Amino acid sequence: MLVDLDNPVIRGLISNLVGEEGMDVIIKMPEGEVTDEEVTIVTEVPLNVVRRTLYILFENRLATYRRERNKDSGWLTYLWKMDLNGVNELLDNELNKLLKNLKTKLEFEDQNMFYVCVNHCGRFTFDVVTETEYLCPNCGEDVTFEDNDIIKHSLKKRIQELENVET
Ligand SMILES: [Zn+2]
Repeated sequence: MLVDLDNPVIRGLISNLVGEEGMDVIIKMPEGEVTDEEVTIVTEVPLNVVRRTLYILFENRLATYRRERNKDSGWLTYLWKMDLNGVNELLDNELNKLLKNLKTKLEFEDQNMFYVCVNHCGRFTFDVVTETEYLCPNCGEDVTFEDNDIIKHSLKKRIQELENVET
C-alpha cells in the first residue's frame, strides 16, 4: 500500500470520513477482492459498520466493487476492493480548502482593527464601532482596542505548517 496510514494528516482525514470503527476496517482490510461478509470475518467489525465504511470509501473513490451473479442461486455477490491511492488527491483538496479559509481570515485580520466589548459580548471592526461612537453595539458599554498580533501570528504559523505538508 502506497498510502501511509501512520501519517497523522492522512489518518485524520480518513478517520473523519469513516469514523474510528471504520478505521479498523481499513487497517485490517484484506487485499484483493472481498465480500462484505469476508471483511467482517477478517476484521471482526460488525457487518453494518463494514458496509457503511465500504460505501463511504466508494463515494470518495477509495474503493470499487464488482457484481457477480451466482449461476446456481442467481444471487448477486458484491466484490469489494479497497484502493486508497485516491487519498492524496482528497487530501490535496481538503488542504487547499483549509488554506484558502485561513488566508481569508488572515487577510481580514490584516485589513481591520478590532475592538472588544468590556463585557466580552463581542469583537467588532473599526467600521462598526465608529458608527456607535466606540460603544458596544450589543450592550452599549465601552469597547477597547484589541491588538490582534497573536491571532495573526498563529494564523500565519498554521498556514506555513499546512503549506509544508507533503502529500
Ligand atoms: Zn457589549
